Amino acid sequence: MSEPVNEPRSVILWDIDGTLLSTGGAGREALDLAFEELFGVPQAFVAVSFGGRTDLGLVGEAFERAGLSMPDDAAPRLHDRYVGHLRRILAARPGRAKLLPGLPQALAQTAPRAVNALLTGNWRAGAEAKLGAVGLWEQFRFGAFADDAADRNALVPIARRRAQSLGVTPGRVIVIGDTPHDVACARAGGAVAVAVCTGWSSREELQACGPDLLIEDLTSGLDAFLGLL
Ligand SMILES: [Mg+2]
Repeated sequence: MSEPVNEPRSVILWDIDGTLLSTGGAGREALDLAFEELFGVPQAFVAVSFGGRTDLGLVGEAFERAGLSMPDDAAPRLHDRYVGHLRRILAARPGRAKLLPGLPQALAQTAPRAVNALLTGNWRAGAEAKLGAVGLWEQFRFGAFADDAADRNALVPIARRRAQSLGVTPGRVIVIGDTPHDVACARAGGAVAVAVCTGWSSREELQACGPDLLIEDLTSGLDAFLGLL
């Protein structure tokens, strides 16, 4: 049965790291390796805070910290090298990437009521590598990624447009993530903000930015989350 094109549907925009899964540091390791091979600086990301950032934003900060100006072609070169390392690292240690509590059951519960999509600071190919490692990539209809904008706050409108281009009229749009950056990007895009305490930020930090719903994880918090749909 085909969906009526114009009937608004709730859209959930899921963050990846700290919300759906943990890669056990594989993302940082892959970026460090790529940066060292291309630009000769080891551990360029060691002091960079990853939570809620976009990959392009992280790369810019790594160049600043290394005292180097960022070449015009740095981002595409790093992207390709990073994704290669990430795939290799995740394949070498199956089980390093782990689903967070309540997954994948939460996606099975939301799928009949809402469109599951991604809003992430990962490049698209990195998101596919990470979610593929835990068998989740196919669960999402579309996404907004670091390829789309260096500024996470620009990603909700991009996700809305992408939904429409697929014939989905977004009704309520919900952003779920593990950092204050996720809450801020929900606010910037006129979306409902759900914060989950399974990742980078403490409950106190998340509480302080005033999300519409704050849950411990997607096990104990699942009913409250489903209540928003
Ligand atoms: Mg996150």
